[in-house]
Amino acid sequence: MTLASISYQKAKINRGYTDRLLEINLSDRTMVVKEIPQKTREMFVGGRGYCLKMVYDGTTAATRYDSSENILAFAGGPFCGESSFAGTGKFIIGSISPLTGTFCDSNVGGYFFPLVKNAGFDAITVTGKSDSDVIIFIDDNKGTISLQEAPKTDSSLLEAENLVEEWRGESKPSSIAFVNAGIGSKNTFFGCVNSIYYDSRRGRCRAKQAGRGGMGTIMRDKGLWGIVVKSTLGGGNSNQAADKKRVRTAGTDLRKVIRDVDPNELRLAQQGTTSLLDMMNNHDILPVNNYKFGRDDRQVMVSGKIFEEKVFDQKHPDGCFAGCTLSCTKGCETHTLTTGPYAGRTVPVDGPEYETAAAITNLGIFEIPAIMEYAWYCDEYALDTISTGVVIAFLIEAYQEGHLTKDDTGGIELKWDDKETIFALLHNMAAGQGSFAGEVGRGIRHMKSWVSERAATRNGNDKEKIMRELELFGMESKGLEFSMYITKESLAQQGGYGFALKGPQHDESWLIALDQIKNEMPTFAQKAAALRWFPLFRTWFNIAGLCKLPWIDVRHPDAAKTADPAKNLPTVDCYLELVNSTLGTEKTLDDLLSESERCYLLHKIINLRQGFGTRTHDRIPLRAMAPVFTDEFSSRREYYINDLKENTDIKINGQDDAELLETLQNHRRQQYEILTDAVYAEKGFDTNGIPLNETLQRLGFNEPEYLEIVNQARQKSNQE
Ligand code: SF4
Repeated sequence: MTLASISYQKAKINRGYTDRLLEINLSDRTMVVKEIPQKTREMFVGGRGYCLKMVYDGTTAATRYDSSENILAFAGGPFCGESSFAGTGKFIIGSISPLTGTFCDSNVGGYFFPLVKNAGFDAITVTGKSDSDVIIFIDDNKGTISLQEAPKTDSSLLEAENLVEEWRGESKPSSIAFVNAGIGSKNTFFGCVNSIYYDSRRGRCRAKQAGRGGMGTIMRDKGLWGIVVKSTLGGGNSNQAADKKRVRTAGTDLRKVIRDVDPNELRLAQQGTTSLLDMMNNHDILPVNNYKFGRDDRQVMVSGKIFEEKVFDQKHPDGCFAGCTLSCTKGCETHTLTTGPYAGRTVPVDGPEYETAAAITNLGIFEIPAIMEYAWYCDEYALDTISTGVVIAFLIEAYQEGHLTKDDTGGIELKWDDKETIFALLHNMAAGQGSFAGEVGRGIRHMKSWVSERAATRNGNDKEKIMRELELFGMESKGLEFSMYITKESLAQQGGYGFALKGPQHDESWLIALDQIKNEMPTFAQKAAALRWFPLFRTWFNIAGLCKLPWIDVRHPDAAKTADPAKNLPTVDCYLELVNSTLGTEKTLDDLLSESERCYLLHKIINLRQGFGTRTHDRIPLRAMAPVFTDEFSSRREYYINDLKENTDIKINGQDDAELLETLQNHRRQQYEILTDAVYAEKGFDTNGIPLNETLQRLGFNEPEYLEIVNQARQKSNQE
C-alpha cells in the first residue's frame, strides 16, 4: 500500500553529476528533491564526502544513532555507474553509528546506486522514524517517489527474487535493485545493509554488503525496511562524460593491466578475496583464536585454491557492476544449510570474502561448509560478518581466561572450534533470543564493561582491574571491532587501524601487505609518511564512488620502475584520466589528495564534536601490537628473541619468557606512541590528535563553527 507519493522531474546527468539530493523524512512522510550546492560539490566531491557533509549539517553533538534526527545518508560519486571503467558500482552509506557514537561509513558495490543516479540522484538522506516498517520506492519510469508498506518479511535474501518479480512490472528484472536489512539488524548494533541486484547470468539475485558500523541497525531503527529503485541503465555515455573516448581509453588501459597481472598474482577473478587466506597464513597475519595466532596448519583446508576449484561456480564471469573485469564477486550456487531456522534448505551463497572466512578461522574453525553457512546466515540476517565473529572470539577467550562462566552465558561453555555453540549463538543473537545473546549483539566495547561488571560482582574483584585485563585482547578501537588482519608485526598497520577515523577497518588504511609482506616501507619515516598518503588516496576512492581493488591489488608492471612502487602510480594515471575526461578538468594527483584531505578533516571534526577524536581514542589493544600471553610469545619464541636483540637494548641473559614478553610489550607500546607523534605531525595535528588551526585554514575550513569545535576540543584536552 502506498502511504505517500510525489512526482519529480528527473535531473539529467552532466559530467558525472545530477546535482540532486533526495531528502526523506520518515516521521512526517515528506520527500523533497533538492539541488546540491556547488560549494558542497567543490569541497566534498561525492560518496563519503557527501555523506560526511550531510550528516555533519543535519546532526548535533547530542545526536545518537537512534535519535530521530540522525541521518542515514547514501551517496555515489561522479564516476559511479561509468561502465567503461572497472570498479564503478560502489556507493557509501554513512551515519552516526551505534557502535562508535560518531560518524561511520561503509562502502558497497552492486547496481543500486548506478540505478539511483540514473534515476536522477547523487545522494539520498533519510531522517525521522516510521511507526511501521516502510520502503522507499524510486520509480524512474513513472517519475515518482513513494513510501510504501514494507514487505511482510524480515528475511533479507530469501524473498529477493519474488520481490523483484513483484516490483519490476513490464521491465526486466535487472531494472530493479534495492538495499535492505534483515532481522539481525533489528536486534544487534552491527547490522549491515545488503545491496541486492538481479544477476541475469546466474538468473538470481546477488547481495553485497555495507558491513561496518551498524548501518543496517540504523535503517531498521528508523522503520526503514529498504529502498528500491527501478530504472533502466543506458549503455554508451550514460555518465555524460566530457570526453567519452578518453574515458574508454583509460578503462581499456586499466583492463589490460588487470588481464595481464591478476591471473598470475592474486587471482581475484578466480578466487575472489579468499586468495588472501593463503597469503595471510603464510605471513602469520591470519587471525586464529581471537588474533592470538597468525598461522595454522589447517589453513590448507580453506585455501584460495580450494575455493577456486571446488566451491566457486566459474561458469559465469562475475563482478559487482558492469565493466569490472577484476570480477572478485564470487559465489556458489548450492550450499545446504545444516543449522538454524532454515536447516535443510539449499541456498546460493555470495562470497565469502576473505574477511568472512577469516572471521571463522578466528574462532578456530577451518572448514569450508562452516564458512559458507556463516556467510549466508550473516547476509540473510544482515549482520556484519567481521563484528559478529570478533565479538564471539573475544567472549571465547574471556571465558577461557576465567572471566566468564556458564552463569553468565546462559549455561553454554564457550570454546574454540565449536561450530554447534557458535552457530547457536549466532541464531539467537540475530533473533534477539536470550539475555546473553542480546548483550553480545551490542559489540565488544559493551561486552568488556558487561563482563567486568559480572566478574567483579561474582568474585568480589576489582572491576577496573578486570576491565584492564579484558582490554588487552578485546579487539576493538573507537567501539568498532578490528577487521581481519593480525597487526602485531606491522607497525604501519597498527597505525593504519589506530588512526583510522571510523575505527579499525582496513578501507582507510591497508598497509599490512606493503609493510609486512613486501617490506616496501622499512624505515620509521616511510611508515609515518605512508600513514598520511595512503589513507588520503584510499579515502579518495570512497568519495569518488570507486572500488580500490583494481589499484591496490593489481600492481601495474611499470610500478617497479618508479621511486615508490607501493603507490602504483602508473595505475593512478588511469584514474587521473578517468577524472579529467569525465569532469572536463585538468586535476593532478595533488588535487585529488587535497579533496580527500578535506573530507578526512570533516570526519575528524565530527569525531571531535561527538566527544571523540583525540589521542586517547587512537589507542589500540595490546594484542594489536604484541603478544599478550606467554603461550602466544612462545609460539614464535625465536622470532621474538631476534626482534628483541635487533630492536631493543636488552641483553638476552637467562630471562624467562614472562620477563622477555614484558620487555617486548613495553618496546612495542613505545614504538606506537612515537609513531603517533610522527603521524600527527605529518597530518597537521597537535600532539593530542587535534587539527592545528592552520590545517583548517589550509583546507578551506574557515567558518567559525569549525574553529569553535576544534578549539573546544583543544581546551578540553588541555584540562585533562
Ligand atoms: S574488484 Fe570486486 S568489489 Fe571491486 S568493483 Fe570489481 S567485482 Fe566489485
